[in-house]
Amino acid sequence: MQGKILIVDPIATNRIVLKVKLKKAFYDVEYAADMQGAITAARADLPDLVICALALPDGGAADLCRHLAQNPLTAHIPIIAIGCQTNADARLATLEAGVHEVLRQPVNETLLLGRVRSLIRAHNAAAEWQMREDTCRAMGLAEPETAFDGQGHCVLVSPDRSLIQKYAAQLRPVLRTKLTQSSGAAVMEQMTVDAMPDVVVVILPEDSSAALDELRLISALRANAQARHTGIIVLQTKHDPALGANALDLGADDLMTHGFDPAELALRVRAVMRRKQMGEQLRATVRTGLQAAVFDPLTGLYNRRYAMPHLERIAEHACATGRSFAVMAADLDHFKQINDIYGHASGDAVLTEVARRLRRAVRNTDMVARTGGEEFMIIMPGTALPEAQRAALRICSDISASPFNVPGSRTPVNVTISIGMAIGGAASTAPEESDGSGRALLDEADRALYTAKGRGRNQVKLGRPAA
Ligand code: GH3
Ligand code: MG
Ligand code: MG
Repeated sequence: MQGKILIVDPIATNRIVLKVKLKKAFYDVEYAADMQGAITAARADLPDLVICALALPDGGAADLCRHLAQNPLTAHIPIIAIGCQTNADARLATLEAGVHEVLRQPVNETLLLGRVRSLIRAHNAAAEWQMREDTCRAMGLAEPETAFDGQGHCVLVSPDRSLIQKYAAQLRPVLRTKLTQSSGAAVMEQMTVDAMPDVVVVILPEDSSAALDELRLISALRANAQARHTGIIVLQTKHDPALGANALDLGADDLMTHGFDPAELALRVRAVMRRKQMGEQLRATVRTGLQAAVFDPLTGLYNRRYAMPHLERIAEHACATGRSFAVMAADLDHFKQINDIYGHASGDAVLTEVARRLRRAVRNTDMVARTGGEEFMIIMPGTALPEAQRAALRICSDISASPFNVPGSRTPVNVTISIGMAIGGAASTAPEESDGSGRALLDEADRALYTAKGRGRNQVKLGRPAA
């Protein structure tokens, strides 16, 4: 199924004509004849798109949009309105209510289907990110939402400099956000991380082949890592439904089919900007949520949740390739005393500095994780016993050699660490009966750590004498 569409129209023949067109394009179709029926159907079926007659017996497309916006479940369902309206103010009011597009009867089928595909694609992408964010939130990993800053940057793009200057002069008073101008080629060069516009308005020339040429900018923007989430609005200076549908299929977020109108363009720029900022916020929450899932917030090291499956992966890889790897279980000595004498904040400062020194002491390919309060795990892939032993001794002396500055003490504090080590893979130190798993090797490293503690701390012990 391509998607579920709710058709809202009081006239049965209109519904049937539209249904035939949509069914041909493999969409699932539901009906409603008035606004109340549409609200009930939208809540029950959660369609991917609503196509609604401008005027309904009990309201209109704009009223339906406002009603759906009140319920979080239906708030983001895109709406296309269809009608005979020629009044520009009423059209603007409908768009302002949140309706995505107002199409005039008779509707061009190519353009309608292009618009349907584009809106459903955007709706599904937004819904997917929303679900991921919900998951992060349910896992307690999402940060509280921050308000939009309201600032935005829009670029008008056209090879015709005098035309964009004319458009910019009319758009500026109604848009009230930063507005710049560019030729198609220059806009790609300006796409740096710091100066990323929120919305690019691509103004197509009247000449069809020149217009087709300009459309290449959409694919270029969508393929660019930095610019791929930038909002794109295509403005057609000549009515050409097939080209318009093409622009939407290439990834334009919105389309103006009937030439320049400053009020309508300003409205569309703001709507695309708002949706883009919402998308950005969702992605940021998911990103920080995922970071929180694998990193320890105090030290920035990987956490136990990440380290354990990573250890198993390294163990499997070593088993398959016949290489050795080292696992170290490290634990700070008498750390409780640091907290007791200098305070918890000093304890935290020690943990942060230990993390920094551990990271500094190992290679990029090694992994350091904070697996407990003052406990760390180090995994060194592709490492045999002599090299691992040298590394462990270096870590021990890195910690003990220079005392730590902490907020609770004028003089730096001495800190030491004990390390238990085990070797897995080809030259494994694990007992014969061991299953060779990462978990079993870590247990062995833990036993070695216990021995190191018992023998006076600040030292390295190996799980078992190497064969
Ligand atoms: P040992 O040498 O035998 O390992 O002794 P120890 O004092 O290091 O070990 P113990 O397990 O008795 O104490 C660990 C302490 O670490 C107790 C706990 O309050 C402290 N701790 C755990 N997490 C944190 C943290 O995030 N910050 C601070 N400041 N202290 C922590
Ligand atoms: Mg300890
Ligand atoms: Mg401990």
